[in-house]
Order: sequence, then structure tokens, then C-alpha cells
Amino acid sequence: VWHNCLQVIKDNIGEQSYKTWFEPIVPLSLAGNVLTIQVPSQFFYEWLEEHYVSLLKKVVYQELGSEGRLEYSIIVDQGNDQSKPQTVNIPTKKVPAAVANSYRPEQSFLKNPFESKAIDRHFFNSQLNQSYTFENYIEGDCNRLARSAGYAVANKPGTTSFNPLMVYGGVGLGKTHLVQAIGNHIKSNNPDKFVLYVSSEKFVNQFIESLKTNSVQDFANFYLLVDILIIDDVQFLSGKEKTQEMFFHIFNHLHQSGKQIVMTSDCPPRDLKGLEERLLSRFKWGLTADLQSPDFETRMAIIYKKMQSDGIHIPDNVIEYLAYSVDTNVRELEGVLISLIAQSSLNRKEIDLELAKSALKHIIEDVETEVNLDFIQKTVAEYFQVSLDSLKAKTRKKEIVTARQVAMYFAKEYTSHSLKSIGYHFGGRDHSTVIHSVQTVSDLIDTDKKFKASIQELQKKFRVKAG
Ligand code: ADP
Ligand code: MG
Repeated sequence: VWHNCLQVIKDNIGEQSYKTWFEPIVPLSLAGNVLTIQVPSQFFYEWLEEHYVSLLKKVVYQELGSEGRLEYSIIVDQGNDQSKPQTVNIPTKKVPAAVANSYRPEQSFLKNPFESKAIDRHFFNSQLNQSYTFENYIEGDCNRLARSAGYAVANKPGTTSFNPLMVYGGVGLGKTHLVQAIGNHIKSNNPDKFVLYVSSEKFVNQFIESLKTNSVQDFANFYLLVDILIIDDVQFLSGKEKTQEMFFHIFNHLHQSGKQIVMTSDCPPRDLKGLEERLLSRFKWGLTADLQSPDFETRMAIIYKKMQSDGIHIPDNVIEYLAYSVDTNVRELEGVLISLIAQSSLNRKEIDLELAKSALKHIIEDVETEVNLDFIQKTVAEYFQVSLDSLKAKTRKKEIVTARQVAMYFAKEYTSHSLKSIGYHFGGRDHSTVIHSVQTVSDLIDTDKKFKASIQELQKKFRVKAG
């Protein structure tokens, strides 16, 4: 019976609408004149009732006569947990026979872009920036998990357990780059998949616009056809309840049909204020991975890569200086690099350390007011009455070794430098030397009272300076 119904439905609506709204329906039973069909979600049910009720009435009438009735079985959205979907029966009203032949396609569906045969799916604009790729996304400790999860998703969208994939991290740490790389990778491997990148801001604006123009159906319809939905900066949905509700339905529908969802946020889901609990709980279904500030090594690699792709040359000591000085985020690092290149061409000067220092003056001055490495080294050298240079030299004289270890200890304690970076500023020592120094000093503090007193005295100087 359902098969016959589908035939009629198919003839009455566009192919894409048919695929979206009728193919997922499973006929469950026919008892007397009651046909029960299973639909994937509450939203799905509401959608059918809202847009296809007259068509459904018509086909039910044709197949089962005037006493024919349709019941929906809905796979329930279980708000907060991930347990197996349950099935409940929600009976619909009796179908009055009188309206049986009155179906005409809703106006809004005629506007649906997918109705037009001329448009092929992969002509749809994915809104991806092709310059964001995995190839130019530098891997480091700061992004290893997020990057490799992203790569797995890019190779097997919708089929890994990383669905949704949620990437979070502070501004300029590479969230957008990473998720766009996922989209670009999928698109190049599967040109027929409909990948869509959208910022949450745009999503909200589109939704509001669709409310104004009475085309919410088109809006939803469009998103429900997406194979891979990449939605950036979901913190922007905060407090926007209507949009969240729509996103919730879209999310459920896509997730249930095995479509991949990738999201970013500026904080972990648990800290997302103003987002509905049922959405947050879904965000945690897949994998949540964070991006940290890049360490010294990664910053160096990013600068190298950038120079390589721009075809410019910068001396090694300048690269090290930049990587050392700009340790906030990658966007800032790129900004400094660009301004340096600009100054060099404006002043027709080669890029050297001097130019770099003057280009970065404002940033370095900021650093100077905090307890920075230079200050720690100077203070410790003075205190132990050794020369500043000796801290960075190869010498292994006992009093110098102690001073050096103490300075490393404070560098670890009071600055955000990575072990690698600290080592670099102590004459190019490696990070294991720094670990060893920090450990040695901690042990001495525990065992040697006189040593502990010196450390406390030094600590005061740094505390005063740090305010
Ligand atoms: P977010 O979205 O987290 O604010 P973006 O993705 O916009 O950050 O990154 C800012 C800039 O830094 C972009 O130009 C991006 O290409 C670059 N970037 C960030 N992380 C990396 C990385 N690991 N390797 C190379 N470039 C990166
Ligand atoms: Mg971004």
C-alpha cells in the first residue's frame, strides 16, 4: 500500500523533496484501514504534517478509502542522553475524505533551488576558502588531537565516531583553517558530496531573513540536504533560541542520516552559556578537541611555511626572534610577518634583526612590563653574581650551573614560554635540560633550607615586578 502511495507522491512533488521527506519513511504496519509509518524525528513529523498533509490525505484516501487513517511512529529525540531511540505512536486525526483531491504543491517548494533540474549538487557553493588545506596546516603539540581527528573525519565523513566533531580554542588559533581544510579535503575526494561551510553568524542571519520572508521551509530544506555541515563559531548561537531550535532539528536530521557535522567554538561546550542543554548534550556525542597556543617550535614551522608559500626569504635569526616574541596566536604571528614584509619593501631594506625589532617595538614593549625572560635572567645573574652571558654559555662551573638552573626554574614558573623556548634562550639547550633543571631546583627547595630561602628572596622580586 505504502509503495502505491509513494508512486503518487513522487508524481506530485519534486525529486529532491521526495528524497528528503519521503524516502526516509519506513512503512511499519497496515491494520485494517490504519497505515502506520515511521519517521526519523518529531521535526520530520511536524514538517510532513505542515507541508504535505493534503497530499498524504489524498493518497491515503486513494489507497484505503474514506475510512483510511495514517499513524506516525516517531523516533523520539531523547533530550539529554544518547540511549537508543525509542518508538512511540502518535495517532493523527482522522482524514476527512472531503479534502482528498485538493492537493497542490505549496508555493514555497517551487522556490526551492533543488527543485530545478538544471542545478547539479556539486555546483552548489560550499563557501569554502580553498587556501585552507591540511597541507599548509602545521601540526604541533598544540593541535595534534584536533588535527588528526579532523583528518580522520575528512577521510571518512559521517562514519567515524567523531560525529559531531567539535573543535574549540581561542581566537586566531586555527579553528576556521582546520575545519575548512576538512571541507576542502572531502570535496576534492568526493565532488558529488554537498559540503557546506557556514559561520554561525550567517546561519543566524539567514534564519532571521527566512522568518521575515516567510521561507523558513526553504531554509530548513536547504540545510537538510547537506552531506557535510561545517558550522563555525557556534558560541554565536548563544541566546538565540529560535535559531537554536532550528539548528537542533537540522542537527538531528543530519546526524540520524549519517551526515557529518563539524563545529567550532571559542570555548569548551560546558562553558557555552546561553545554549540549550539538549544542544550541548548533542555536541558531546562525538569528539571534542581543543587547540592550544602554538609552542615555539610550531611557531617557527608556521613562519617557515608561510615564507615558503609567499616565496620570500627571512634570515634564521629573525625567524627565531619573531617566533620568540609573538607567542599569543597564529593570526598575530602572521600579522607581524606581513607588516615586516611590508616595511621591508617600503623602506627598500633587507629583512634583518634590526628591522624586525623596530617593526615589533609595540609588542616587545608590552612584554617588557611583565616578568619576562630577560628580566629573570638579569635578576638571577645579579643575585648569584655571575655574568648574564654565562647563563647562556657552555660553561659547567658549579655556581653558574646553579644560577642557570634557577633562572630556568623561574622562567618556567613565571612566563608562558614552552620548555623548548626556554632552552633556546639559555644558549640553545634542549627541553630535557630545562626539565632536569626545574626538577633539580624543586628538589633542592625541599631538601636545602638555605637554598629555599634564596629562592623565596628571588620570588619576592618577581612578584613585586609582576604586581
Ligand atoms: P580561528 O578561527 O581559531 O580564529 P584561524 O583559523 O582564522 O583562527 O587562523 C588564523 C590564521 O592563522 C589563519 O591565517 C590560519 O591560516 C593561520 N593558522 C592557524 N593555525 C595554523 C597552523 N597550525 N598552521 C598554519 N597556519 C595556521
Ligand atoms: Mg575562526
